[in-house]
Amino acid sequence: MSANIIDGKKVAQLTRDEVRKDVDDWMDAGNRPPFLQVVLVGNNPASDVYVGAKTRACKEVGIETDTMRLPDTVSAKELKATIHKLNKDDSVDGILVQLPLPNHLSAHDVIESIDYRKDVDGFHPMNVGRLTVGQPSFRSCTPAGIIELFKHYSIPTKGKHAVVVGASNIVGRPISILLNKESGEQGKATTTVCHKFTKDLTQHTIGADILVVAAGQPELIKAEMVKEGVVVIDVGINRVADETKEKGYSLVGDCDFESVKEKASWITPVPGGVGPMTVAMLMKNTLLAAKKSIYPE
Ligand code: NDP
Repeated sequence: MSANIIDGKKVAQLTRDEVRKDVDDWMDAGNRPPFLQVVLVGNNPASDVYVGAKTRACKEVGIETDTMRLPDTVSAKELKATIHKLNKDDSVDGILVQLPLPNHLSAHDVIESIDYRKDVDGFHPMNVGRLTVGQPSFRSCTPAGIIELFKHYSIPTKGKHAVVVGASNIVGRPISILLNKESGEQGKATTTVCHKFTKDLTQHTIGADILVVAAGQPELIKAEMVKEGVVVIDVGINRVADETKEKGYSLVGDCDFESVKEKASWITPVPGGVGPMTVAMLMKNTLLAAKKSIYPE
């Protein structure tokens, strides 16, 4: 059996089309366009690529955006002062500080300095906490995008065993909470969360009905580690050297796609799976911030 492919590009386009329509309606009702302020510290090439994709998506859906570039020598005090200004600026709906930050800056501190009502990445402890207790919140974009994919393809998770490989604050942990807690067919799974100290990873992955992998380890998951019919969401984006490519590298996920797809019932490709959904959900969150839908005044 070869798996059905979960087409994140297609679902992300549908999501952006929806947001575009909602932005138009919002402006037809006399409102200004939503505005996303991106803050980019330093010169990380991967961050440049991600910010470029976010900026292009904003343009497509009618969200205005600006990228503030700060040198990698910026102090924590200066960065937080900049964020405080943006927090107070009524023309700014969403604030996104692109991660990772240079080593001398604490991502925790910087994220906490963002007004949680403008935290369209959904990383602020207020939003994470509200997500955990099932209150309305900005949901971090990658986990929210994964739930959208399950919904689009009517893949139920209720009552299934979902195994998440990776326990980061931005992917592994929040997707495990959503899968466990969300009501309806795309939620209510029994979840296992694995990390670096998990002994015998295969013992866990082999029992998964739903397997979400966000470890940042190229092709960590092999066919012999999964059961027939598993649904695989591969979040990983890894650059591996590839002389046949002009850029000198290829992008691969955390799963050995070619072998795992022969056993899975559904699988996301890399690229073209979860990545585009992350950006599309950011558009959704920015519109929600402009409309003050999560935190009404
Ligand atoms: P982090 O490095 O923050 O977290 C990785 C997690 O995986 C950690 O919890 C770590 O464990 C765990 N881990 C690492 N190696 C293993 C292993 N061998 N076995 C089990 N667990 C392991 O990464 P992120 O969550 O930020 O990102 C993960 C991947 O997803 C990356 O490739 C990243 O590029 C990609 N990504 C893709 C996005 C998209 O839109 N498609 C968005 C965000 C990330 P421990 O906690 O013990 O350290």
